[in-house]
Amino acid sequence: LMFGKARTCNIVTVPEHEPAECNVVVLGVMGVGKSALTVKFLTKRFISEYDPNLEDTYSTEEIVDQQPVHVRVMDTADQHGPVNCERYLGWASAFLIVYSIESQRSFEGCQQYLEAVTLYTKGLQPEAPVLLIGNKVDMERYRQVSKTDGSALASRYGCLFFEVSACLDFLSVQHIFHEAIREVRRE
Ligand code: GDP
Ligand code: MG
Repeated sequence: LMFGKARTCNIVTVPEHEPAECNVVVLGVMGVGKSALTVKFLTKRFISEYDPNLEDTYSTEEIVDQQPVHVRVMDTADQHGPVNCERYLGWASAFLIVYSIESQRSFEGCQQYLEAVTLYTKGLQPEAPVLLIGNKVDMERYRQVSKTDGSALASRYGCLFFEVSACLDFLSVQHIFHEAIREVRRE
């Protein structure tokens, strides 16, 4: 259990365990913008060129709904779909599975991650939340994956769904990470 179950009353929420922590792993095929989303969340900036093979884990202190949380983000860099998943399956308290709305291939690739991750999370108590993210909505002109298809895939796997862009506003990128944290708190 990564997150203390919170006991809620009308005025304050009292966490029973400290410190609150949340480990978020970012998954998806190469080039969908995992690093761009991670860096945007951490720095508010869009970095357009990022080493495609670099996998790293970053830490940040966040306040989500007035409550502090220590967030770690693992920006993965798989070259051949979901392999060596052991490195994050047990570690993660939430999964962000990313595709690019301008790449049908990336949408197919993300389904392998959905399969691998949900197969694992199904057995967990509490179940770790999975969020499906369609990135690069600024590339609307080149869209290959409809919002309907993204949303249908998400509901098939019982996960939340968001479309976003790493190069547009910071708040919508922050929102998906904060939603992941809220989902972990709800578990
Ligand atoms: P990763 O392999 O999933 O980590 O992908 P990167 O974050 O390295 O991004 C791959 C490429 O897509 C880079 O050229 C980024 O500049 C670009 N990119 C990432 N996110 C976006 C986005 O939201 N919109 C656009 N237009 N390009 C993006
Ligand atoms: Mg990357």
